[in-house]
Amino acid sequence: MLRVSAVALVLMLAAGTGCVADGGPGARDPVWGSHLRMREPAPGEVQWTGGFWAEKFRLLRDVSLWEVQRALENPENAAVLANFRTAAGLQQGKHLGKDWGDGDCYKWLEAVARVYGVIRDQRLDRLLDEWIAVIAKAQAPDGYISTNIQLTDRTRFAKPHHHEMYNMGHLLTAAAVHHRVTGKDTFLRVARRLGDFLCRTFGPRPPELAHFGWNPSNIMGLVDLYRETGDRRYLDLAGTFVSMRGSAAGGSDLTQDHVPLRDETQAVGHAVCACYLYAGAADVAAETGEQALMDALQRIWQSACTRRMYITGAVGSFWKGTSSRGHPVHEAFGHDYQLPPRTAYAETCANIGNAMWNRRMLGLSGDARYADVVERVLYNAALSAIGTDGKGFFYCNPLERTDQTSDLSHHHTSERWSIHRCFCCPPQVVRTLGKVHQWAYGLSDDAVWVNLYGGSALETDLAGGRLRLEQTTDYPWDGHVRLTMHEAPARKVAVRLRIPGWAEGATLKVNGREASQAEAAPGAYVSLRRTWRSGDTVDLRLPMPVRLMAAHPESESLVGKVAVVRGPMVYCLESHDVPDGVPLSEVALTAGARLEPQGREDYLGGVVVLKGKGVRAVGSAKPVIPSGPEWQGRLYRPVPGGSSPVPAGEGLDVTLIPYYAWANRGPSRMAVWLPLAGG
Ligand SMILES: [Zn+2]
Repeated sequence: MLRVSAVALVLMLAAGTGCVADGGPGARDPVWGSHLRMREPAPGEVQWTGGFWAEKFRLLRDVSLWEVQRALENPENAAVLANFRTAAGLQQGKHLGKDWGDGDCYKWLEAVARVYGVIRDQRLDRLLDEWIAVIAKAQAPDGYISTNIQLTDRTRFAKPHHHEMYNMGHLLTAAAVHHRVTGKDTFLRVARRLGDFLCRTFGPRPPELAHFGWNPSNIMGLVDLYRETGDRRYLDLAGTFVSMRGSAAGGSDLTQDHVPLRDETQAVGHAVCACYLYAGAADVAAETGEQALMDALQRIWQSACTRRMYITGAVGSFWKGTSSRGHPVHEAFGHDYQLPPRTAYAETCANIGNAMWNRRMLGLSGDARYADVVERVLYNAALSAIGTDGKGFFYCNPLERTDQTSDLSHHHTSERWSIHRCFCCPPQVVRTLGKVHQWAYGLSDDAVWVNLYGGSALETDLAGGRLRLEQTTDYPWDGHVRLTMHEAPARKVAVRLRIPGWAEGATLKVNGREASQAEAAPGAYVSLRRTWRSGDTVDLRLPMPVRLMAAHPESESLVGKVAVVRGPMVYCLESHDVPDGVPLSEVALTAGARLEPQGREDYLGGVVVLKGKGVRAVGSAKPVIPSGPEWQGRLYRPVPGGSSPVPAGEGLDVTLIPYYAWANRGPSRMAVWLPLAGG
């Protein structure tokens, strides 16, 4: 049955209406995105109304935003808002925290603006006004702003690792979002002064600045500024930053600066820097339509997402290592199939960066495989970074936790924290939770694309008239999705529903009748094109069997192991759910293991757990599915079931929880990949 939670009703009431709020000034600007197959709805055109994402949004609004604010007000944290007050001359003091702290403060302001764009709470508006006034005062007369340099004796642009471009890039994006949702130009004026400064400084491409762009949020930020102002210089400069990569001797794979991006064939180097570069380049391609850039991004995607991505959607296989071209790299993409679960670096920012990049590739292509990655990241490697109560964060998101910790990085914490020595990840999570609703839908002149499922309302203008659509579902726990059309243009409009790559046997009904014209093939959009009437319904059913997945046989550390998935969710086994005296490492599954879904509404924020039988055995270390042509282009595949019954007397009761919900019940050990017994 479909459920609308009490939480959703509260959320709708809090928003003042069950319908969609005003999209804000400048909600639709035809200037930009001409090479996109689908554009994003404006911030106020979509709202969560019930279920999983409505609850996550409620937690964001009531808890997580303020948790992050408290951390940013703590001088012990790595990102500190007070630096802006000091740089503005409003207080005395020295710079606090890390070089990239400004950028992380802007990411939080972006999250506040995004939440304001949905709920229109005036307190958020005032909070933004206060901080924007301070930031404007902190900005140097020539437009430069990066408090780690302004409050120290270091010179500007002395070292890329000072993160000035990262800081400034996030200012540009936060200001663009603020302008879009409020119509005020206070922050945008700061951004324009900064954009002009960057144009003057980098436009002539001085050779001594050829390698600037550590963690290049500046590329996305400049495209955002272009889209908000229509000023082509900012787009051109974003293109310049893409072209600078690998254009001068002395670059490194660490920052994707050794090979020109248009010649690149692999995802390489620091995984956050990489995903930000690829996402920024996709933004540039959306405006210029340049085929060479799109081709390069597709090649790099093949490398990243079919050979170097964890089953959770995480990227960044190791802390320290070497690229395949022999460069020392850290926090980086691994080699092909190098996917160790325990030492996975899998930084939250990189995982979300992967989703940001894939959402842009989806917009460019309309190809559902990119939406599959967005969804994989969101439900697994992004949500794992925040506690189920909206508090407490993770930086690394490994797929296994044991007592062996000596070879882990200092970011591999066993428990969640509220402040940290590097605070980039929490504001990355909150700004993302503030925009998933916009990722959920796509719009083109005669079509609505449903990319992600969740109880929601969409209200927008298409060519030919108003469209109001409601989505009701208990996804991701249940695969039934109902769309109800409340208003539609008096002409044919296509509703394009994404059939996830895992959804074999999906069925579709329109107004209760089998939709014979629609082929619901996995990994594609199914298009229902008709003249819609108010009250029309679409029922999509996505079967969600529990599946055991094997990894590509060249993934050495995953040989002989399986991961359990159901729908978009990856599951894990946590030590809390294993009988006393049984080491987690000895809990195995058989290929025929029956694991039954069981809804637990008040547990871990409301989850479906999987209960069933494991065995106390260790699988033989041979590939679950051997090498063969069927692995071509695939990293994970379902294990054929039906064999290996549980040996009598050796059965163990096991309960698996969604991976994202681990580490919410005190210290534990955890594993996503479990040995396959009798394999
Ligand atoms: Zn981070």
